[in-house]
Amino acid sequence: MPIADARQNLFGLDRVGLERFFVESLDEKAFRAHQVMKWMYHRHATDFEAMTDLGKALRTKLQEHARIAPPGVILEKPSLDGTHKWLLGMDGANAIETVFIPDKGRGTLCVSSQVGCAMNCSFCMTGAQGFNRDLTAAEIIGQVWVAARHLGNIPHRERKLTNVVMMGMGEPLMNFDNVVTAMNVMRDDLGFGLASKRVTVSTSGVAPMIDKLAEVTDVSLAVSLHAANDALRSTLVPLNRKYPIAMLMEACERYVLSKKRSSVTFEYTLMQGINDQPEHARELVQLLRRFTRRVQDANAAKVNLIPFNPFPGTRYVRPNANDVRTFQEILQQNGILAMVRRTRGDDIDAACGQLKGQVADRGRRQARFRAELAKLDGGHVDALA
Ligand code: SAH
Ligand code: SF4
Repeated sequence: MPIADARQNLFGLDRVGLERFFVESLDEKAFRAHQVMKWMYHRHATDFEAMTDLGKALRTKLQEHARIAPPGVILEKPSLDGTHKWLLGMDGANAIETVFIPDKGRGTLCVSSQVGCAMNCSFCMTGAQGFNRDLTAAEIIGQVWVAARHLGNIPHRERKLTNVVMMGMGEPLMNFDNVVTAMNVMRDDLGFGLASKRVTVSTSGVAPMIDKLAEVTDVSLAVSLHAANDALRSTLVPLNRKYPIAMLMEACERYVLSKKRSSVTFEYTLMQGINDQPEHARELVQLLRRFTRRVQDANAAKVNLIPFNPFPGTRYVRPNANDVRTFQEILQQNGILAMVRRTRGDDIDAACGQLKGQVADRGRRQARFRAELAKLDGGHVDALA
């Protein structure tokens, strides 16, 4: 077995962490960290020898104590519609997927936060794959770096990558610290320089972590709702048994109220005959009206309708186009902004919910993960069973 490289992977540190590493571990000035960040994120350098504005002695010291190691690309798949998918190796046994989706004037990268997902949502391919582990901060920011290098993205000059959504594999709020560190680099001028509102966290509804998120960052929040009543939502998102809709909506209210002019995007995957009928749309209207009334902002809720993307073995079916249109119209007639997300990259299995990577599921790890979740607010371990 190869000996693990003990040198610090600089992809794992945000600006504050990197400054600390330079001062405390290398006995160097903090501004050296800034020079290195620019080399890494603006010029895609991985070799310290290329960093010509650093002295020879520092370059040698860096070589001894640090490395800049992006995830390895196992496979790349371009789609006919311009979407691009990477399968990235995270260790010998696991791989995750990252997807770039170009659209008029913007380029969105869909980033993974975990190897698999323990949330077990019944309509999600990633959920069906099981769970192995959290990604490190280096593995999360490394996904953005691989895409940025491929695109020739140069922040503030040649910007191809304009948005990041944490909507790949995994539940980002269950890997909180690493996701926050990685998002710091995405939003840093010395990193990828994205405006905070162009970085989005999507959660299946880990309510207490939404409050924690509000404390440390002001990124955009997307919440995967999929149903406006608890009985139905619990069959789709098992986490709902632990954090039911009322609790989730209250956390969303606090998030919006803690930020100026912010809103929550509610994602709603439409499945034929399950949650795509007019009565479901009307129920959603009631729920969101209550929400916008309580935060006193009629524009604080947006809805993103996602027609279900099928995968092998699923029992759900994509809704028909008429039902999708009717659903959208009911929301819009009631003053709720609702978009239908266009399916992108389905020829390469890169659409929402189709990411699967390569997950060495660990039954016992998954059980421990669930226990951790239960500890969050003293709830019951069986909430997700
Ligand atoms: N775990 C997070 C983020 C990743 S999933 C979350 O659940 O929010 C990103 C979005 O894709 C979520 O809204 C999810 O509900 C949706 N999704 C999952 N499987 C899908 C499928 N098969 N078809 C369409 N959307 C799906
Ligand atoms: Fe996990 Fe999101 Fe898929 Fe649910 S929808 S299993 S939370 S990735």
